[in-house]
Amino acid sequence: MPVPRDIRDFSQVFRDNGHSLYAVGGAVRDYLLGTENNDWDFCTDATPEQVTAMFRSVIPTGIKHGTVTVVFRKQNYEVTTFRTEGPYSDRRHPDEVHFVTDLREDLSRRDFTVNALAADCSDGIIYDYFDGEADLRAGIIRAIGNPRERFEEDALRLIRMCRFCSKLGFTAHSLTFDSACALSSTISFVSKERVFEEMSKILMTKKPSAGLGMMYDTGLLKALIPELDKCASIEQDKVGSDNVLSHILVSVDAAASYGYSLTVRWAMLLHDIGKPSCMKKIGNFTRFFGHDVKSAEIALEVLRELKCSNALQEDVYVLVRNHMTRYNRSWTDGAVKRLINRVGRERLDMFFEVLWCDRIASDGKPGLEETDLLKERIDAVLDQPMTLKDLAVNGNDLYEAGIPRGPGMGRILNSLLEMVIDYPTLNSRQTLLEQAVLLSKSQSPADK
Ligand code: ATP
Ligand code: MG
Repeated sequence: MPVPRDIRDFSQVFRDNGHSLYAVGGAVRDYLLGTENNDWDFCTDATPEQVTAMFRSVIPTGIKHGTVTVVFRKQNYEVTTFRTEGPYSDRRHPDEVHFVTDLREDLSRRDFTVNALAADCSDGIIYDYFDGEADLRAGIIRAIGNPRERFEEDALRLIRMCRFCSKLGFTAHSLTFDSACALSSTISFVSKERVFEEMSKILMTKKPSAGLGMMYDTGLLKALIPELDKCASIEQDKVGSDNVLSHILVSVDAAASYGYSLTVRWAMLLHDIGKPSCMKKIGNFTRFFGHDVKSAEIALEVLRELKCSNALQEDVYVLVRNHMTRYNRSWTDGAVKRLINRVGRERLDMFFEVLWCDRIASDGKPGLEETDLLKERIDAVLDQPMTLKDLAVNGNDLYEAGIPRGPGMGRILNSLLEMVIDYPTLNSRQTLLEQAVLLSKSQSPADK
C-alpha cells in the first residue's frame, strides 16, 4: 500500500527507536477498496511512554487505553499501543487493557475482519491475519472469531455492523448477523450519545436504508426507537414502499441521494413516526390525521433521549411539524409570511428539501411547479415586516402612549403584528400607536 511521504517519515522515527508503526482499520480497508479515506488510525508496539519519549509534542488523549496524539510536522497522528483487552463486564468497555508487542494479538481484538487489516508504514506491506481481504472482495462483514462473544464484549459493535454494511454496501455474514439478532437487546448498554453518533453515520452513508433496514431486521431499531419499528406494521401504498417504515426509508435515501444535511436526514427518518398512533380506518381508507403534530412530538422525545444538540432537536421538530404544508395559489401574502414565521427564515431551504424528499417517496412526481411558485412567493415577501422586531413601534412606545406593561401589552403587540402581516402598508408609527390605544381601551382590566 502506498504510504504518504509524511507518514513514512513519521514511522521512521519509530524505526530509529527500534519500534514499528502500522496503519490499521479504515485507511487500509478503503485503500484496498479503492475508495478515499483521510482518517488514519495507527498502532505500534511502543508503549505510550516510549512514544512520548520519541517526540517533542505528545498529547495523552486516551493514555489509559494506550492512545496518544503525536504532533509531527504540525500534523496530529493518533497512535495506539498494541493491546489485548480484559473482560467487558459493562458490555461496552474492557475492564482492563494489557499492552502487548505482537501485531496479530492487537488485530484479534478488533471488531470485523475487514477492519483488522494493517499496513506497515515504512514499507506498505499489508498484514491480513483474519482473511479480511477475501471478505472485502466478497462484500462481507464478519466478526473476528466468535461473533457472539465479540458482541457480548462490546454492544456498540452491533450497530457498527449495520454502519459498515451501509457504508460499504456489504452484507453481514450469516453467523455474525444471527448473533447480532440474538443480542440486539443488549444495545441498551451503549450510551445514547454513541447510538446517536453511529446512527448519524449510517444516515450520512450513500444508501442509509441498507443500514437502517438492517437495524430493523436485527431488532436493534425495536430496542432503540420502538415507535419507528412499529411503522413497519402499518400498511400504506406509496412509491417503492408498502408500509410506513419503508416509505420513511425511501425518503431518507432520497435525502442522501441529493447530499442533503444530517438534519434533513434525521427529519426524514422521523417525519412519519407518529403515524401508528394516529391511524384511523375510514371505510376502505386509512387516514393519519394530525400525524405531523404527533410525529414532531415523538421526534423531539427521541432526539432528546439520544442527547443530541438542542439545535438539531429544534430544527427537526420544526421540519417534521411542517412537513404536511400544502401550498396552493389562493394563499394570501399573509399566509406566506405566517409560514415563514412558523418555519423560520434560516430553515427555509431545509423545509423545501423535506417536502421534496417526502414527495419523491410518496408519488415519485415531485410537485415542482407548485414548490417553485411557493419559493417565488416567499422571495417576494421576505423584506416585508413579519416579526415583532419589524414593527414600527415597540413596548416602550406603547408605554409612553399610556398603555401599561404586562401581558395585555404583549397581546396588543401581537395583534398589531397580525395586522401588519396582512397589510404591510399600515406599519407606520402613528397608525400603530392609534390602533394600540384603541385595542387597549377595548381590553377589560383583567386582560391588562
Ligand atoms: P471509518 O472510515 O468510518 O473511520 P474505521 O474502520 O477507521 O472506519 P473507526 O471507528 O475509526 O473505524 O475505528 C478504527 C479501527 O478501530 C477499526 O477499523 C477497528 O479495527 C477498531 N475499532 C473501533 N471501534 C471498535 C470496537 N468497538 N470494537 C473493536 N474494534 C474497534
Ligand atoms: Mg477511522
